[in-house]
Amino acid sequence: MNVRTGNRRLMREVNSKLVMGLIRGSETVSQIELLRKTLLSAGTIASIVKELKGRGFVEEVGFGRSVTGRRPVLLRFNPRAQYVAGIELTAGQTRAALFDLAGQIVRKTDPAAVTDSDPQSALRGACADVLSLAKKAGVPREKLLGVGISVEGIVDPNRERLILSANLGWRNVPVKEIIEARLGVPAMMNNSGGAMGEYLYGAGKGCKSVVCLEIDAGIGAVTVLNGRVVRGAHGMAGEIGHSLAVPDGEACSCGKRGCLETVASAKAIIARVARSRRDGAGSSVPKAIESRPAPEALQLICDAAEKGDPLARRVIDEAGRHLGIAAAAIVNLLDPELVILTGLVAYKSGDRLLKVIRRVAAAHVLQDGSRTIRIEQGTLGERAALVGAAALVCERAFRVPVESDA
Ligand SMILES: [Zn+2]
Repeated sequence: MNVRTGNRRLMREVNSKLVMGLIRGSETVSQIELLRKTLLSAGTIASIVKELKGRGFVEEVGFGRSVTGRRPVLLRFNPRAQYVAGIELTAGQTRAALFDLAGQIVRKTDPAAVTDSDPQSALRGACADVLSLAKKAGVPREKLLGVGISVEGIVDPNRERLILSANLGWRNVPVKEIIEARLGVPAMMNNSGGAMGEYLYGAGKGCKSVVCLEIDAGIGAVTVLNGRVVRGAHGMAGEIGHSLAVPDGEACSCGKRGCLETVASAKAIIARVARSRRDGAGSSVPKAIESRPAPEALQLICDAAEKGDPLARRVIDEAGRHLGIAAAAIVNLLDPELVILTGLVAYKSGDRLLKVIRRVAAAHVLQDGSRTIRIEQGTLGERAALVGAAALVCERAFRVPVESDA
């Protein structure tokens, strides 16, 4: 392909995605409005719209108003023109779902325990789930735009390989390659948890800059700025869970002492309540709380706190104080529009933890009265990572190609 043909083709792709983006971003839109918003020629717009209609992405939905004469045909994006699959792999469980292009779940699997420590066979199982979901939903393979995979761990800068996941016990796994070979569609791996899902379809919808503070088995902060995840020079940005919270505190999984994770992660909250119960503290929380699965144990502790149990309240409030200080540090450093709390602890703990975090953060944020510090709970719940994985595939497919990759 010579440069001129290449440029023409690139221009066509840029224009097509520009028009598609405008149609996607509107309830309905006419060709006249597209003309005004893009400054492209009427002929170019007409030919792009024709092509998008032919591919099923755009449909006509009636006529708009006109004061001068012919009423314009209204166009609408068809979110069911193609589908995206999401796979979430965590230490405890795997789940998969099929989404339409508006981020709505069409069909999903129930979370299943990861019983296989071999990455190849665990990924094979996840691919089989995707194929079975597509079959049940009547979606042929050619309508599958791609697969997004959410994993816990360190991912290489090109997101082709999972370098290390301590929680999954995997090292150097070519996740993208395995999934693409199995399913024959583009795959995209990310370790941003629920941040992208919340940014695009959840609490952060409409914001330009958000930080997701994920409080789960571990604690991490993911910054999303103008649709891009800020990864840092070595891909390790956001490890706030390993910031010092308690000098000379408890030992952390990272080898240091007193990290935020040792007082505020799901594991820490459950372990602290369990320890106090063993030491004889009175509480309505069962003594063998640690033997229950983490979501159930956390729910019991949070319910007890809600009902006034002093031990549960003390542990939750202490976690909240440390998380509030972390949230204040995030706001002081990055000044985001919104801090979103996600992860098991945020979802299970209800209002109590949120209130403590907001109060403590407000006390530690530099404030001149000109800004509102917004800290909200995520709205997607435990689906956030899955939604985010699929959303990234969608955003990449529809992004105007001159922009750099997320
Ligand atoms: Zn640590």
